Amino acid sequence: MTMVAAEGVRKRFGSLEVLKGIDLEVRHGQVLCLLGPSGSGKSTFLRCVNHLEKIDAGRLSVGGELVGYVRRGDRLHELREKDIARRRRDIGMVFQRFNLFPHMTALQNIVEAPIRVRGEARACAVRHARELLERVGLAGREDSYPAQLSGGQQQRVAIARALAMRPKLMLFDEPTSALDPELVGEVLDVMRDLAAEGMTMIVVTHEIGFAREVADVAVFMDDGVVVESGDPRTVLTDPCHERTRAFLSKVL
Ligand code: ADP
Ligand code: MG
Repeated sequence: MTMVAAEGVRKRFGSLEVLKGIDLEVRHGQVLCLLGPSGSGKSTFLRCVNHLEKIDAGRLSVGGELVGYVRRGDRLHELREKDIARRRRDIGMVFQRFNLFPHMTALQNIVEAPIRVRGEARACAVRHARELLERVGLAGREDSYPAQLSGGQQQRVAIARALAMRPKLMLFDEPTSALDPELVGEVLDVMRDLAAEGMTMIVVTHEIGFAREVADVAVFMDDGVVVESGDPRTVLTDPCHERTRAFLSKVL
C-alpha cells in the first residue's frame, strides 16, 4: 500500500520554481532517503508532505488522501485549517534543530502534545513517554532539561516527542546535520531501529552510509527535479547521472 505518492508536484515562491514536477512513491513500512545539494528543494518537498506548504500543481497524497483536500462524492473540497491540523497529527517531523521547549524537562517535552492536542490522559501519556525514552536510549533522563543534554540526546528526545503522537509517517529533515560528528551515530541508530520496526519514513540526509544500509529507495534531487531514484545500492554506489556522481564525490 502506498503511504506517500507525488506525481508532477510543483511549487514556486514568486518567480522561483523550487519543485519542478516531483514524482516519487513511498510504500507502507518503507524508508525513502532524499539526497541532493543545498537549495534543491528537499525541505520544501517535506513541508508540502506535512501540509506546511501548498503545492501549485500535480498530485500529492498521504495515506491515500490528497494533501489539502477532502473528497465528497466525486468533488474535491479544500480542507479547512483545523482539518489540516488533524491530518498533520499523523505525521511526525524531526528537524535539524531540535526545537525542544527549553523550560520543560525531557518528559514534559514529550507529553505536552499528546495531552494537549490528542487529549490523552496524563498518566497514559507519561507511561508512553517513559517507554519512548527507553526506546531512544534515554531511560533515566526524563527529568533533564534540554540544556543538560548533549545535542544527540536532545535530538533523540525530539524523535521520542514526534513518536508520542503515534504518527503513521515520520519525516526527518537533516536530523544529524547540526550535531558534532561523534554524536551522529547515536541518532542514526535510533532511526535505524525505527525503520526496522516498520515505521514509514522519508529522511533527508547527507549520511550516505546510512542511506545505503537503511533506505529501501534513494532519491537524488537537484534543482527541483528528481535526477535519479531507485535501489540505494545502485543510486548511491554506481549512479547513472553525472550530477549524482558529482554530489556523492563531495559528501563522501
Ligand atoms: P533544500 O532543503 O534542498 O536545501 P529548500 O527546499 O530549503 O532546499 O529550498 C529550495 C529553494 O527554495 C531555495 O532556493 C530556497 O531559498 C527557496 N525557498 C525555500 N522556502 C522559501 C520561501 N518560503 N520563500 C521563498 N523562497 C524559498
Ligand atoms: Mg533543507
